[in-house]
Amino acid sequence: MNSPTSNAGNHTHLVDEALENQSFIPRLSLVLYPDQVLRSVCQPVETFDSALRDLADEMLSLMQHHRGIGLAAPQVGLRHRLIVSRIQDHPLVLANLEVKDSTEPRDFIEGCLSLPGVQVNVRRPERIRVTGYDQHGQRRSFGAVGLWARVLQHELDHLNGVLICDYKQHETDQCQHCPLELPTKLIEQRKHRSRPNPRR
Ligand code: ZN
Repeated sequence: MNSPTSNAGNHTHLVDEALENQSFIPRLSLVLYPDQVLRSVCQPVETFDSALRDLADEMLSLMQHHRGIGLAAPQVGLRHRLIVSRIQDHPLVLANLEVKDSTEPRDFIEGCLSLPGVQVNVRRPERIRVTGYDQHGQRRSFGAVGLWARVLQHELDHLNGVLICDYKQHETDQCQHCPLELPTKLIEQRKHRSRPNPRR
């Protein structure tokens, strides 16, 4: 997910970004729509080893390189239920996340690193309870509110192949950026899906 302030840049802002990122050469690259991987329902992470931790570190670096605040594995071409986020210098790596309880739906304009230039008003709960596993395989359970809740739900959508352009305000709205539209019924099913898909 984009930083809410990332679209307010000016020329000075862009120069700063170029200087700041001079030394960073990402090994991963950002997948953009309409790459089909962004419509995948991802598989649970089952192995928490150094390769996973390296992947999470690289995703965090790539996300920061693009000035994002959240990134999901399909956005780097991988069908794993893994997300990373960093808000105000607090990094978070979470695998197999689930949203348990949610309250207080609010509107908010969201952007997405995989859909450059697209902004959509998305109605999501303001408060959620989240469970998942960190990069060491430790189970985590916590409450999230505000921007954290927003980012975690946006990234969870990615793990189910749902994108912000699927949150149309009206049935007749068409998103010209989204040639790979899914049937409405399938999108609604995926939006409400927070459980990992067990393979056993
Ligand atoms: Zn996104």
